[in-house]
Amino acid sequence: MKTTEFKKGSNENASTHFLSKEFDCPCTSCDKTLVHPELLVFLEAIRAVVGPIKITSGYRCQAYQDDLRKRGYETAKGISSHTLGEAVDLLTNKHFGIELEKVARTVGVKAVGVAKKWIHIDLRKDAVRRWTYS
Ligand SMILES: [Zn+2]
Ligand SMILES: [Zn+2]
Repeated sequence: MKTTEFKKGSNENASTHFLSKEFDCPCTSCDKTLVHPELLVFLEAIRAVVGPIKITSGYRCQAYQDDLRKRGYETAKGISSHTLGEAVDLLTNKHFGIELEKVARTVGVKAVGVAKKWIHIDLRKDAVRRWTYS
């Protein structure tokens, strides 16, 4: 499956319950939003268990990713899967990160970063990966 490209800010449905704009990069300079269809399959499966999900970070253009790193946020060392449209950070208003992780594992996500109130998931499949955010 190939990554889908949306126009930034558009109200297009990326999948049944998610609009493409929920994945937009927060910067003011890029103009497209990348979302991989497999990520949407995971998100819909997680949503089916936990209810509505808020995406706190979806696609990031490289400039925004570089800016996050410069500002000292904990981000991937090499290429971030956010810049490929293959990662999201998500939360709900009633789950802890470890609860969301459990659901993500159940639906088949291999790479999960866990914070107190949110998780990062991405499409890497080579190994079961787990890390935490302070
Ligand atoms: Zn951007
Ligand atoms: Zn992330």
